[in-house]
Amino acid sequence: MSNLPSEPEFEQAYKELASTLENSTLFEKKPEYKKALAIAAIPERIIQFRVVWEDDKGEVQVNRGYRVQFNSALGPYKGGLRLHPTVNLSVLKFLGFEQIFKNALTGLNMGGGKGGADFDPKGKSDSEIRRFCIAFMSELGKHIGANIDVPAGDIGVSGREIGWMFGQYKKMTKNWEGVLTGKGGSWGGSLIRPEATGYGVVYYVDHMIKYASGGKDSFAGKKVTISGSGNVAQYAALKVIELGATVVSLSDSKGCIISTDDKGITPDMINTIADLKVKRKALTEVANTSDFSDKVKYIEGARPWLHVGNVDVALPSATQNEVSKEEAEGLIKAGCKFIAEGSNMGCTQEAIEVFETARKEKGTDSIWYAPGKAANAGGVAVSGLEMAQNSARIKWTSEEVDEKLKDIMKNCFENCLNTAKEYIPSKDGEFPSLVGGANIAGAVKTFAAM
Ligand code: GLU
Repeated sequence: MSNLPSEPEFEQAYKELASTLENSTLFEKKPEYKKALAIAAIPERIIQFRVVWEDDKGEVQVNRGYRVQFNSALGPYKGGLRLHPTVNLSVLKFLGFEQIFKNALTGLNMGGGKGGADFDPKGKSDSEIRRFCIAFMSELGKHIGANIDVPAGDIGVSGREIGWMFGQYKKMTKNWEGVLTGKGGSWGGSLIRPEATGYGVVYYVDHMIKYASGGKDSFAGKKVTISGSGNVAQYAALKVIELGATVVSLSDSKGCIISTDDKGITPDMINTIADLKVKRKALTEVANTSDFSDKVKYIEGARPWLHVGNVDVALPSATQNEVSKEEAEGLIKAGCKFIAEGSNMGCTQEAIEVFETARKEKGTDSIWYAPGKAANAGGVAVSGLEMAQNSARIKWTSEEVDEKLKDIMKNCFENCLNTAKEYIPSKDGEFPSLVGGANIAGAVKTFAAM
């Protein structure tokens, strides 16, 4: 019996990765990587601390803060900060572990880490969030640095929170350095960073569609179901629309909106949602806005997957484990061919098995699934580009960053594809396993460096 505490999310992420490595020829070809995996499964360091802050009534509040510095073989620890009441060590270890291999897949030199706190920004005033961020950085700031560990945003942390934390770090250290990414454009942030994760997911899926159709098909005319309504979902939706496809859903933690007309969710609606989300309001308000109430229906307490009718593409972009086995089966029945995670570990292990089994079918029955560590790597990739711009004291244009992002997503897709072909035995005509390919490609790069 293990004397370790149960860490269900981390165990799920570890098993998902380890099982694909074990079911490939990797350990036959590189037996020493078995030991590397055992070593990589333990974080290099975990920092845990209390965050004491004062609420608007002048009362003292306390939260648990963390930074998991998981692996620095490829570069400084790199990964977001999550502020959400569900945050605990298991969740941050899962996210940090995924981040190691995701960052390796960008082709840039970044190690893997993750942090955050069990602080809930919902229902807090702007001043309370600011005081929390400053208190959080007062401790975290002692353990990070532009060449040591470079946090960024994740759920609950956007450019505004990064700004408050960056200011506090600068005060503490008297040092302007690229210690955080996702900064504002006028004070060291990279253009395209807010858009990068969502755009990157769509660029990745575009390659999947093109490969699966021998270059004949594209996003144009496709129906796309998306969950979430934060940064990732918003920009994925806008890019999908730009490429001529229709977005049929979005969601938040309380429910989902489903489009009820042929135009789907429009850029206008997405802009309204973006404004509401800054004010930490729920999607119900969009469904009730007179401009949109006849164009969408709101389903309380539901995720979109079983309510969208026929779709071609699904992009889970909210949080972990947001697609169950039954929902995966429902998506396939609804004609969905391409599933790619904008969120980290968006699909349960059972859902991945449903998709991976269906992948092995031939022709029009095959389904193709891309895991978050490949499909959503665009966010951290542009964070890497922000680090490069900060170190070189230069600023690239939006076009330059977008071109680099497109290249990174193309290389990431081809790396997953070719690595799967090299290490995973498959039948003729089968689409290569992108989940296997992503895990093996990320592991090979990291283990070689270790
Ligand atoms: N939180 C994002 C992720 O899950 C971005 C991390 C970063 O930019 O460092 O990849």
